Amino acid sequence: MLRGQMMDRPLMISGLLTHAGTNHGSREIVSRLPETGAIHRYGWKDCLTRSQRLANVLEGPLKVHEGDRISTIAWNTHRHLELYYAISGAGAVIHTVNPRLDPKQIAWMLDHAKARHVFFDTTFAPLVDAIAKACKTVKNFIVMTDEAHAPQMSNVKPLIYEDLLAKASPDYDWPEFDENAAAGLCYTSGTTGDPKGALYSHRSTVLHALMACSMDTIGVGSRGVIMPVVPMFHVNAWGVPYAAAVAGSKLVMPGAQLDGKSLQELIEGEAVTHVLGVPTVWLGLLQYLRESGKRIDSVENVLMGGSAMPEALLRAYEGEYGVDMQQGWGMTEMSPLGTVGKLLPKHEGLSADEKIAIKLKQGRLVWGVEMRAVDDGGNVLPRDGKSSGHIQVRGPWIISSYFRGAGEEAFTDDGWFRTGDVGHLDEDGYMTITDRSKDVIKTGGEWISSIDLENAAMGHPDVAMAAAVGMPHPKWQERPLLVVQPKPNTSPTPDSIRAYLAERVPKWWLPDAVEFIEQMPLGATGKILKTRLREVYAGYAFETE
Ligand code: ADP
Repeated sequence: MLRGQMMDRPLMISGLLTHAGTNHGSREIVSRLPETGAIHRYGWKDCLTRSQRLANVLEGPLKVHEGDRISTIAWNTHRHLELYYAISGAGAVIHTVNPRLDPKQIAWMLDHAKARHVFFDTTFAPLVDAIAKACKTVKNFIVMTDEAHAPQMSNVKPLIYEDLLAKASPDYDWPEFDENAAAGLCYTSGTTGDPKGALYSHRSTVLHALMACSMDTIGVGSRGVIMPVVPMFHVNAWGVPYAAAVAGSKLVMPGAQLDGKSLQELIEGEAVTHVLGVPTVWLGLLQYLRESGKRIDSVENVLMGGSAMPEALLRAYEGEYGVDMQQGWGMTEMSPLGTVGKLLPKHEGLSADEKIAIKLKQGRLVWGVEMRAVDDGGNVLPRDGKSSGHIQVRGPWIISSYFRGAGEEAFTDDGWFRTGDVGHLDEDGYMTITDRSKDVIKTGGEWISSIDLENAAMGHPDVAMAAAVGMPHPKWQERPLLVVQPKPNTSPTPDSIRAYLAERVPKWWLPDAVEFIEQMPLGATGKILKTRLREVYAGYAFETE
């Protein structure tokens, strides 16, 4: 081999911050503080200096060593951003905890991760108080505020973030080490089983950040103003904290206030151009915009992901508010981005409805992610836009094993990761999810897509949320049960819903029964908990003739 004669410089997360701090020093990072709701603003240069102070705190008083896991239970703020950079930059591993999980599960994860220190926002003081005694590996709890706003706690005497930083030196030389060293740890939200840890490296994080910036992905540059509404505890806010540093964009952090009014104020006040989040957030914002008559005219681009994008939402934002919406698909195990649904030049002449149909697919493969759909026997299916199978992926920001070795069955012998999703690909690389492997309704040898059935039901004027689950059936193996949460002050009947569906899905998909529920069970990332529904309706007997 004739070797290339290029420098072999490691891809370091600290390099993203030193780039932004040095070259985009005055570009702002704006945060809404969880403890007061006040707005805090500073530049990337300040973020760099304070992250250096924090790195000195970690290595000094907190005695953090290479590879140690340091956990955060925190909102999107400048302090959480500093922790992202200082912890990984110093060679340790940032473990972001989803505070919406059950406290017992959180304590389990901290223990599983062997967390050495826990940084938390004042909002989560009661949670930390409740679990502190169970956290045997944790040496210190550090509350992310100043002396004046430190909470009174019963079981913990927290150190105070701003005190620690004030006492530390701002001078710090970021170490260089193997780019394959671990940098971040994120557990799956456990929607479909026990949480499992994805352990990211410097290399995977930096490559993912570069791809996230590109035009057909998030497409943000130094002129952009980006607001991750997706929390930094939900797969690293989809990589935005890193991508924003690569791009040198202005970063807007919404803190603890994710309601429609607070988001609209921030968007308008800071002239936000790019926003990212899960569908539930966009539903809340839309409701507020319609009630108040307010606008979000600065927004150019919205990336919605985490679960399927409802058609009504897409039409409302694009039609009423002139926003370009994209759907993204990914998962914790993929850092998370896998597909993003930007349109291609060849789609320009299409009608509005045809464009909507393309945007309702889960998106188009981004560089770095290879994908295939396989049947039950492991045969690769054609990319014809209709042959559905198990979706498998591989690439430099996709896990090769789980942290501390759980879930080996997720990997194929030839090096692919089984996503657990079912869907199909077309020749342009657009992927459509039809289900999760565990949720497919297998009836008489055919598969019904629970997602398509749910989306169709959600169009009914009285339906707020719908979930289709396969229930055992004596003749057909499984048949769909549709569980519906009606909109307030409506009382739809099973017949009206079945009649509505009859015009939209094949006859053999029609649910054999419709049950109504006051409140759909939701998991920690806002997704419907089908595992819970299966427990509630266990032993369900369809009326058979
Ligand atoms: P969990 O698997 O615990 O829910 P993740 O946040 O990692 O946690 O979720 C990944 C899963 O979310 C994907 O495997 C897929 O099933 C679902 N998902 C993500 N984005 C989309 C999307 N745009 N459309 C449909 N499903 C999606």
